[in-house]
Parts: sequence; structure tokens; C-alpha cells
Amino acid sequence: MMPFSQHDATGRLRHLTTLDGLSADEVHQFLERAQRFVRATGAAPARSHTLDGVTVAHLFTEPSTRTRASFELATARLGGTSINLDISLSSRQKGETVLDTIYTLQAMAVDVFVIRDREPGVCQYVAEHVQDHVSIVSAGEAHLSHPTQGLLDALTIWQFKGGFRDLVVSIVGDIRHSRVARSTYLALSKLGVGEIRLVAPAELMPDPDEMHQAKRLHDIDAGIAHADVIIMLRIQKERMQSLAIPSDDAYFAQWGLNQQRLKLARPEVIVMHPGPMNRGVEIASDVADGKHSVIRNQVSNGVAIRMAVLETLIENRLDRGSRP
Ligand code: ASP
Repeated sequence: MMPFSQHDATGRLRHLTTLDGLSADEVHQFLERAQRFVRATGAAPARSHTLDGVTVAHLFTEPSTRTRASFELATARLGGTSINLDISLSSRQKGETVLDTIYTLQAMAVDVFVIRDREPGVCQYVAEHVQDHVSIVSAGEAHLSHPTQGLLDALTIWQFKGGFRDLVVSIVGDIRHSRVARSTYLALSKLGVGEIRLVAPAELMPDPDEMHQAKRLHDIDAGIAHADVIIMLRIQKERMQSLAIPSDDAYFAQWGLNQQRLKLARPEVIVMHPGPMNRGVEIASDVADGKHSVIRNQVSNGVAIRMAVLETLIENRLDRGSRP
């Protein structure tokens, strides 16, 4: 079997299961396309007809609020049809069942599968087995990858900072178990961010061979000093085998982002969080809702990025001469 590629034979992107292997140009193009879908707060949302006649199946086997709602809205605002199923694709032992499910939906003329699964490899496995015209988009794969979150984080930083090169970006918290950290790191390093810091207690730091271009710090005060962007992450208890983590209060005291600590960062710092937030654990409520927070902008940008991704994949399919 050929090694898996997200690109088709002509080099156009066909799937988006990871940001690994995408060029900086491709990442930029997603941001530029998404920016065209961004509207001022309160304005009517952007719409188009690119997905007329296209069916998108959203298959989520892990809880999701923001990602799922924004993919469904993105499909609707591009004129596509959604079907939304909570079905288990998880068990690799049930490989036949995974494909049976996919083939059943494919027989109903599903064009795009948006998949969230707690087991690594499901998106790629499905991508390797679908018909040539069908695309797979990851909506979160285990602790490994969440490509559209990486893109929406980059878009948010671009909107507020106007560029990437001169920035110090601190990612703080449970990086070890975070697919967001991995995808956002990939997006930001492709875009040439000057300094990326991983700031976490030793047990929540990823292995040394991962994200190796980033600086590692085990102290939040040093980790956010002079930062332009701070990305806070929750502790992903559901991905931990043994829970050797401190109480919420102890974690907040040592690792929580509060107003006092925020003063260590640059005066124009922006604070981000992919959600769901644990107020009073990794972030103080008045920081989450404060003037440096761009957390709601991230949510709005999530719809724009998912519209950009779906539109790109369908346009690429049309360029290959395949009509929905
Ligand atoms: N919503 C993000 C994810 O799906 C972050 C999180 O759950 O903490 O990975």
C-alpha cells in the first residue's frame, strides 16, 4: 500500500487529519480564506453556496461542544447538508465495523466525514479506505492532533498581532495530554513564530523528542514573562492513567493564570483557551472575561476556519474534475 498522504496525486489537499506535512503556504491560505468569512460581532454570518449538493457526516465519539457546533454551522453556512451521529469508531479490533459504518454512509453519498475519536489512527484508517472523491477531516484525534483548532488559534493570533515572527507564545498547563498544544505548536512553528514556550509541571510536559523547537519551563512566572500570547490549557483528566495531580486549589495557586501573574507578560498580551475552561483551576474568572481575553474570538474563528477547510477540500475535489 502507498504511504498515506493527505494530498492527492496532483498535490492538492484532499484530507485534513493533521497539520503535519502541510506547507506554511497552505496554512496561510487557510487563514486568509477563513478571514474572508469573519464578520463583526452582531453582523449577519457569512454564507456561500460552495457546499450545495454536498453531504457532510459529523461522527463524534468524544464529547464536544464548540468543535461540533462550529463544524455543523460551517456546513450549513456553506449550503451543505449535515448528518450528525454519535457512533463508536473506536475499537481497532472492530475494524470491519468501522468500515461498515463508513461504507454505509458512503453509499448514501456522504462526501466528507468529520471525525472525532479517542483512539489514535482512526481518521487515517478511514481516509485510506474511502472512495477517491471522499474527504476526511479530523475534529480531534486522541491526544495527538486537532488541526482545525491549531488553525483557529493561528488565525486569532494573526488578527490581534498582525504577524508571527517577533512573538513570544507561551502554552501553559497540561501539554502532555493536549492535542490542541500539538496542533497549535505545528501551526505556529510553520508560520515562523519567534519563540514558543512550553510551560508545565514536569509530569504534564511532553516527551523531549516532541515539539523540540520550543523552550521548556517549569515555572509559570518565568514562562509567561514578556509573553505576547498566553494559551492556557485544562488538565485532561480523562487521558490520564493515574491521577497524581494536585487539588484544584493547589493547582490554581501554583499554575493558575490570575491578574497578578498576567502583569508579568507584555502589556498588550492576549490570553487564549481552547475550552472547556475550568475557572479557578487553570484560569481565574476575571482573566477569562478580562480585557486581554480573546477566548470568544477563538470560538467565532472556529466557524470561519471550518468553513475555510470544508470549502478548500470541496474546491480541490472540483479541480480534480469530480462533482458532488
Ligand atoms: N476542546 C479541546 C479538545 O477537544 C481542548 C480540551 O478538551 O481541553 O482537545
